[in-house]
Order: sequence, then structure tokens, then C-alpha cells
Amino acid sequence: MNIQDINFEKVNGLLPVIIQDVQTAKVLMLGYMNEEALEKTLATGQVTFFSRTKNRLWTKGETSGNFLLVDNMQLDCDQDTLLIQVNPVGPVCHKGDDTCFAQENSSKTFFIDTLRAVIAARKTASPESSYTSSLFHKGINKIAQKVGEEAVEIVIEAKDDNKELFLGEAADLLFHYLVLLEAKEYSLDEVMEVLIARHGKKA
Ligand code: AMP
Ligand code: ZN
Ligand code: ZN
Ligand code: ZN
Repeated sequence: MNIQDINFEKVNGLLPVIIQDVQTAKVLMLGYMNEEALEKTLATGQVTFFSRTKNRLWTKGETSGNFLLVDNMQLDCDQDTLLIQVNPVGPVCHKGDDTCFAQENSSKTFFIDTLRAVIAARKTASPESSYTSSLFHKGINKIAQKVGEEAVEIVIEAKDDNKELFLGEAADLLFHYLVLLEAKEYSLDEVMEVLIARHGKKA
């Protein structure tokens, strides 16, 4: 990103800034930055907006402590909108939600990223601390075997029509599959790359 490319005159001195969670890809909020707010954000690594209602610089989190820690920034195609990916310290919305766009408009599929982060953290924790940590402690063969067991369980539930039991087994399978990927030190993105490449060949 090149700040000099931003034409603050074109945006009447206020650049719209989309804030996105770098871990979950959720859109968290939208704010505006004047040049000074952007400079302060770059200097501190915490998002500072220019608040149109307060009519002053506003560091998000200044009273709540829920700062937005900058991971990366990118300008859009014509340099008049900024996207900032952040690690939020706490809930972003002053009404208490993690995002200002909390109406059930986002896919829950992204929770898989949150789950992956939790699983990764359990890898280095002590085996007594959680079920997931104990799995890592038992090793790859044991984890792979668990994936096999959960696969068998979903096969069994697929024959019935008990939605709750089927979804439970589907969740078990996905969870253990993610644990196996983490144990093997492969990422879900690498699996997606394989699927995307296959898709490309057939398209
Ligand atoms: P904070 O910056 O989180 O310490 O919050 C300070 C004040 O800014 C709050 O009392 C709200 O008035 C306002 N505020 C905080 N977060 C938001 C938000 N996501 N959208 C709009 N206003 C906010
Ligand atoms: Zn644009
Ligand atoms: Zn809000
Ligand atoms: Zn199961």
C-alpha cells in the first residue's frame, strides 16, 4: 500500500475504511480516516478513525479497550477505499457484538477458521488440559484412526433419519479431520488448492 496514492481530495478528506477480521474474514465495521488518522494508524498499529459524530480523531477502543490491531492494509482498485484486516482485542460493536453487522447475514462456514486456531493452540498444550490436546499427545496414527471411526459412525447414521444424531456425527468427523490435518502440519487451504486445481481441469 502506498499512502501517496490516496487522493484525499477525491473523497472530500475522508477515506472510507472497511475493517475485516483477519482470522474469520468477518466484516466488522466501517469507519472513515482523514490523513492524520491514517498516519496515526500506521504509526501505532492500532486503528484510529476520524469520527464524524465526535468530530475528532477516534482510536477504536480508546474507552472500551477493544482496540483493532492492524494485520495488513490494502487499497481498492482506484485508491479511494481502504480495507484493513485486523485482530480485534474484543467485541467491535459498542452494542456488544463481535461485528457491527451481526444480523445473521454471514455464513457460519467461517467458524472453521476459528476452530482451526483453537485446535492449533491445543497442539502445544499439556495432554491433560483438553480432549484435543490428549489426541495430539497420542499421535498421528491414533488421530487418523479416530477419523476412521467417526467416518464409520456417520455411515451408520446416514442409514437412519435422525437429523440430530447425523449432524452430531458430521461434526465429529469434521472436527477430527481438522485435528488430523493439524497433526500432519497441512492446512485446509492446501486441501482447497487440490480441489480448486481439479475443478479447473474439469471446467
Ligand atoms: P471505543 O472506541 O470502543 O472505546 O468506544 C467509544 C465510543 O465509540 C462508544 O461509546 C460508542 O459511542 C462509539 N463506538 C464504539 N464502537 C463503535 C462502533 N463499532 N460503531 C460505532 N460507534 C462505536
Ligand atoms: Zn474504489
Ligand atoms: Zn456497532
Ligand atoms: Zn462420533
